Amino acid sequence: MDPRTILSLDPPARRRLWEQVVAEIESYHAGLPQAAVAPPVDLARVRALLDSVDPGRPLAPAAAVDFVVRGLRENLVHVAHPRYFGLFNPTPAAMSVAADTLAAAFNPQLATASHSPFPVEVERWLIRAFAGRFGYAPEAADGTFAGGGAEANHTAVLTALAHAFPLFRRRGLRALDRQPVLYVSAQSHHSFIKAARACGLGDEAVRRVPADGDLRLDPSALAEQVARDRAAGLAPFLAAATAGTTSAGIVDPLAELAAVAQRERLWLHTDAAWGGAAVFAPELRPLLAGIERSDSITFDAHKWLSVPMGAGIYLTRHPGILGETFGISTEYMPRLDPERKAAGAGPARAEPPDPYTHSIQWSRRFIGLKVFLALATAGWEGYAAVIRHQAAMGDLLREELAAAGWRVVNRTRLPVVCFVDGSGARAGGSAPAGEGAPAAGGGQEEAAFLEAVARAVVACGEAWLSTTRLAADLPVLRACITSFRTGPEDVRALVGALERARRQLRGMERL
Ligand SMILES: *Cc1c(COP(=O)(O)O)cnc(C)c1O
Repeated sequence: MDPRTILSLDPPARRRLWEQVVAEIESYHAGLPQAAVAPPVDLARVRALLDSVDPGRPLAPAAAVDFVVRGLRENLVHVAHPRYFGLFNPTPAAMSVAADTLAAAFNPQLATASHSPFPVEVERWLIRAFAGRFGYAPEAADGTFAGGGAEANHTAVLTALAHAFPLFRRRGLRALDRQPVLYVSAQSHHSFIKAARACGLGDEAVRRVPADGDLRLDPSALAEQVARDRAAGLAPFLAAATAGTTSAGIVDPLAELAAVAQRERLWLHTDAAWGGAAVFAPELRPLLAGIERSDSITFDAHKWLSVPMGAGIYLTRHPGILGETFGISTEYMPRLDPERKAAGAGPARAEPPDPYTHSIQWSRRFIGLKVFLALATAGWEGYAAVIRHQAAMGDLLREELAAAGWRVVNRTRLPVVCFVDGSGARAGGSAPAGEGAPAAGGGQEEAAFLEAVARAVVACGEAWLSTTRLAADLPVLRACITSFRTGPEDVRALVGALERARRQLRGMERL
């Protein structure tokens, strides 16, 4: 065996490998609408399959690829399926799949600008482009790519700490004489809790502000809670708004929250991981009015921009804050040529900061390429059309559900639909969820019924959707238009499957 070709294969074998992989990708994507969205889970089968592999007896490349493709096809919730109505996981854009392959093949090191001048400038170009779309002044804004929204939210907590507490970076939380606290709504993403743990703040530093009847973070409740906490000797430093909550697609009142944050001297972070894409469709843009007043924004390209995971983005209108938070200097990381540095003087040619001095990650892949190739080819207009289409499919789903006797309980124009059985047979129940809240039948029995409906729909292979709770007494079914491939026929297939599940479950109950 020639050690130089063990991992690279020889040219003919390599060509066969690329051809096989490309053929598999094309056949997967072309055949997906005919496949079950979620094949039955059988862990014993998966483990038996893996037990048949023995690195003591290596496989031929073609057999190994066949093995993996079969494993993926048969043992996966197919999130790229047009009838996957799930958790913000998109059908990946073709250009982005190509981009991820190129990124893996060239394997650029995104820690330093000197190693990767083109990739680093591509990502800076994207940060400026997105910053502008969100209403920041592109030349004054800054940002970084991240693994996903959780890392971007973690970045937000760290930058807000660095901003509020100049001692934090050098001497840590122990140097502070008061406990820092941050504010989220009851509907916020739970990554803020993990971020608080990772920052050494702890769960109790995350203050959950009550939502209003439409599940939006209530600005006056926020102001009151801040006042109470200050009186109790705590140090409020950050409020996190959400533009498109995970459960219900709710957009918090961003402009009003910005006013409270400004008055209370809090860093305002807007978590627009999924819903941020609404700014690309002019008719949906007003839903996010005020987002430009946030100090920072989380936006996940791997959600509604349909690039493969993971592509988180953290944006800020404070150009120095990432360097203040993450700046570090080493002897071993290569720098740009100092002579070129001098020649390139002037703001337009200023040195880009090395990404490792600007973010949580160190060595990392070229995350921005899959965003760049999709945006460069679809264009803003293309993305506007995609987002408009998915929003329209959300509207259609709301209509079809209402016509079939389901009751939609979340108020949003974004394509996440939370609903309960409104046909009367099951809609009995407990107290309403709160003042002016979307009332629904609460209770254990209702939750069990909705879960059974979701399980039956998933088991028939026809579609995938899930359940969640919008309040302790408000269990709901949740369906999101996550795929740009979803059409009216897919929406109707979902509603048909729901109808069959409801009838079947009622029939069984009578026995
Ligand atoms: C998905 C999501 C996150 C977490 O993002 P990941 O990319 O999964 O790390 C955070 N906030 C909101 C609102 C989300 O929808």
